[in-house]
Amino acid sequence: MLNWYPRHRRDLPWRHTRDPYAIWLSEVILQQTRVKQGLPYYLDFITTYPTVQDLAVAPQDEVLRHWQGLGYYSRARNMHHTAQQVVQEYGGHFPGSYAELLQLRGVGQYTAAAIASFAYDEQVAVLDGNVFRVLARVFGLSQDIAVPASRKVFQQLADTLIPAEQPAEFNQAIMEFGAIQCTPQKPDCLFCPLQQQCFAFQRGLVQELPVKSKAKAARTRYFHYLVLRYADMVYMRKRGPKDIWEGLYDFALHETDAADLPAVAVVEAVENLGARMLTNRVEEPVAALRHVLSHQKVEAKFHPIWLEAPLAAEVMERTGLAPYRAAAIEELPKSILTTNYISNIKL
Ligand code: SF4
Repeated sequence: MLNWYPRHRRDLPWRHTRDPYAIWLSEVILQQTRVKQGLPYYLDFITTYPTVQDLAVAPQDEVLRHWQGLGYYSRARNMHHTAQQVVQEYGGHFPGSYAELLQLRGVGQYTAAAIASFAYDEQVAVLDGNVFRVLARVFGLSQDIAVPASRKVFQQLADTLIPAEQPAEFNQAIMEFGAIQCTPQKPDCLFCPLQQQCFAFQRGLVQELPVKSKAKAARTRYFHYLVLRYADMVYMRKRGPKDIWEGLYDFALHETDAADLPAVAVVEAVENLGARMLTNRVEEPVAALRHVLSHQKVEAKFHPIWLEAPLAAEVMERTGLAPYRAAAIEELPKSILTTNYISNIKL
């Protein structure tokens, strides 16, 4: 690994720093994200918020706006909270060891190990999807990597491999090896330096390893958005906790079990909100969009509703809806689904 890495590694900005803040930022952004997609986000964040203090004092809406498009928004909220925790509880300095890093919100074993080794040269092995794959293939580990209990077996093995000298280099190397040499679908076995030792290659089991059971099928949800409009205003609200897209803005939502919402049900939904339509003629929904998340699919329809009068204060308080003009909407953090809809219509 240590021979292979210097000759093959990609030149990435977070590999030129020992600053735990910058390393942590890159690791949070790169979770469940490809390097190519994450790189511009990393550059944007490190430029906008060069220190943990800068990130901690930023308004949450602004942080979510910068995160927009990366998905898994709980990562952004946790990241923001962690920055505040580092400033308030640790005087703006990241804790200096693996064990202490684990105390931070949203910092799991993987991220703590990455920061501890890359920033402090602590001898603690990282385990991400790439490392799981390399170890499973080279050593023939058949434990299901989707099962949390398997982690212990892989961690024990990885801990025996990581050298006391150059632990950071080794961790970087094995992750990079999994990312560009021992890839999931077409590993480059022909030109692999581990070919002779590789359990999977020697037995023709490369495609069988690692063992990973399938995730549960995603459930489908049907979102019917009531896009309430009055004059040049559109009513939007900030999504609450305990559901997808917490903290992002969307329209009044009527969720049902069916892909279609009959006109009469649209009228009823608007009236239940406490709003009055300008006419009782319901327009066809403008767009039907499908958005696939890791554990659920969202099928959305947007129903444009012109109001007879602005929403009453009581309705806005009860529903969280507030009027926005086009320029303000542009600045709000939104899901890709909502952003796509807005870019397709004229506000
Ligand atoms: S021989 Fe193939 S499967 Fe084995 S480590 Fe190398 S690339 Fe991965």
